[in-house]
Amino acid sequence: MYPIMLNVRMRPCLVVGGGGVALRKLEALLINDAQVTVVAPEPIASVEKLADAGFIRIKRRHYRPGEAALYSLVIAATDDREINRRVYEEAENARVLVNVADEPSLCSFHLPARVQRGSLQLAIASNGKAPFAVRRLRQMLERRFDHAWSEWMEAAKRFRRSVLRLELERTEQEACFDRFFDATVNQSNLTSRVPSAREEQSFLDPGDGSPHRTAIAAGDDQVSAGSRRLLGSRVGLVSLVGGGPGDPGLLTLRARQRLLEADAVVFDRLAATALPCDLPARIELHGVGKTAGYHPIPQEEINAMVIRLAREGKRVVRLKGGDPFVFGRGGEEAEELKAAGIPFEIVPGITAAVAVPAYAGVPVTHRRESVRATLVTAHEAVKENGAQVRWDLLAADPNASLLGYMGVKSLTKVVAQLLAAGMDPQTPAAMVSRGTTSAQVVVQAVVSELPAAVAAAELKPPALFIIGPTVRHAADLNWFGNRPLHGQRLVIAGSGEGLGAKLELAGAELVPVPLMVTPAARVVMGALPVSGCVFRNKEEVDALDEERQRLGWGAEIVAWCLDSETADRARCLGWQTIEEFDGPTAENDLIAALLSIPSMSEEPVGCAAT
Ligand code: SAH
Repeated sequence: MYPIMLNVRMRPCLVVGGGGVALRKLEALLINDAQVTVVAPEPIASVEKLADAGFIRIKRRHYRPGEAALYSLVIAATDDREINRRVYEEAENARVLVNVADEPSLCSFHLPARVQRGSLQLAIASNGKAPFAVRRLRQMLERRFDHAWSEWMEAAKRFRRSVLRLELERTEQEACFDRFFDATVNQSNLTSRVPSAREEQSFLDPGDGSPHRTAIAAGDDQVSAGSRRLLGSRVGLVSLVGGGPGDPGLLTLRARQRLLEADAVVFDRLAATALPCDLPARIELHGVGKTAGYHPIPQEEINAMVIRLAREGKRVVRLKGGDPFVFGRGGEEAEELKAAGIPFEIVPGITAAVAVPAYAGVPVTHRRESVRATLVTAHEAVKENGAQVRWDLLAADPNASLLGYMGVKSLTKVVAQLLAAGMDPQTPAAMVSRGTTSAQVVVQAVVSELPAAVAAAELKPPALFIIGPTVRHAADLNWFGNRPLHGQRLVIAGSGEGLGAKLELAGAELVPVPLMVTPAARVVMGALPVSGCVFRNKEEVDALDEERQRLGWGAEIVAWCLDSETADRARCLGWQTIEEFDGPTAENDLIAALLSIPSMSEEPVGCAAT
């Protein structure tokens, strides 16, 4: 269906039928100044009233053959299907636009559901396929778009006229519109306000000496509205965003929104799996974390980069693992921004100490068992010149959970200090690496034996230790690690649709890669080992072939193919391990085959478990 807004002003329009449905339809035409004629032998009183008041013309009789051809637009809303069909056919033959109420097949146009606020109209349609959904969406938007929008629309019209009078270059014009929009629309809660005359003046002339700067290379249509807007002002906004502990589903709504609106994203390695794979390719990506074999970029350089990007007028997201202020140097970075006079905001994230125990089946507090939770950096245990952490005090509190960050290397020292200060050596404890992801490993032991168990399991950072009575629940409440597909990290090209949801419920981690593979998707794919790719057609195989080569995927990465043509393509391109399914049960067969793989799910009880 091709959406258009039709100008019906003074155009002759025919409504066949004079009941309630006809009334609703003709009212919409009248509001838009159409010349409406109603043909109905016995119209209802409300229709009669409109005629009495001179708004419409009524012909109190049945429809006559050939009548439809005399109008620009015809609506049939009688309860006689035969008449409706005749009206439709005659209108179609005369190439007159026609709509038969509640008969989608007898319509050359549908009427969308609408939310109207002055000259702002939101139209909602489902091509006649799901009217119930459209009704509900309309109600939702009715509530969300308050009536201030009609005044805002008027203000926008006025403002546009003022801009046009200035006869600016196109990019300058757009910068004015961006300033107006950003200052008057709250994009998070969909509200708007009318600016004062003085404000409007400031949108026209930002007042930096050159009234209408062309900060952007002329003709650079690739630049986002966000960049244009911010390049038009002196500095951008920096959002210090927490990306959560690794599971991409634990990114907050605000974080996702800021990422999608950004001009540049500066991300830590810990936060790489949280990048949305659909992050538009136009957004600059700067990875600043440590990767194997490389040293991390020094903190001062990161600060300088963020400040430089903001000074270029860009909207910057500084994405960190977990929460930016929890052992994330977010405090220092905010101080630097403050000192540089750059506007910033903090978007908190789910910190490891909250999410990682939860995914290991450990309640971080529990009535009667643990009434305090301490977040501590274990790094401090190995510092010279006296550690800041009072391990002795922490050791003395048996009804508490101790959540230790950055503790893989220092665990032995930490435990020694805790035991020396009198902690019960039998206190339950665990260390979890890569919590909340497909690579999660939980090692559980009593505290005195934890360092040896962690060493035996060769746990690697990032890992969090949990010491406290509630760790004893881990085996019972292990909801995440013992799901049948835990450990599977599957790349799905496109949305994955229903299949993706099923795989996820069974415990697989999905990497939904757009068919035009984005730079963000590349980062996410490479952030943790992938176990396979699900392909529904050969285009998806093609889309991912470059990635297969780039990431050096070999026989260990399975191509799960949903028909033989797709499998042939994978074979032809050189995939080494191919699982092929065909026919109507292919999806279920694929899931069954995945489930039959010796489980990667982890059992956290005992010493090491993977
Ligand atoms: N700002 C982060 C912490 C950064 S310090 C947050 O709020 O979570 C890095 C430490 O966080 C790691 O050494 C580890 O102790 C912990 N950590 C972060 N993500 C983790 C994960 N997915 N699993 C286990 N530990 C994690």
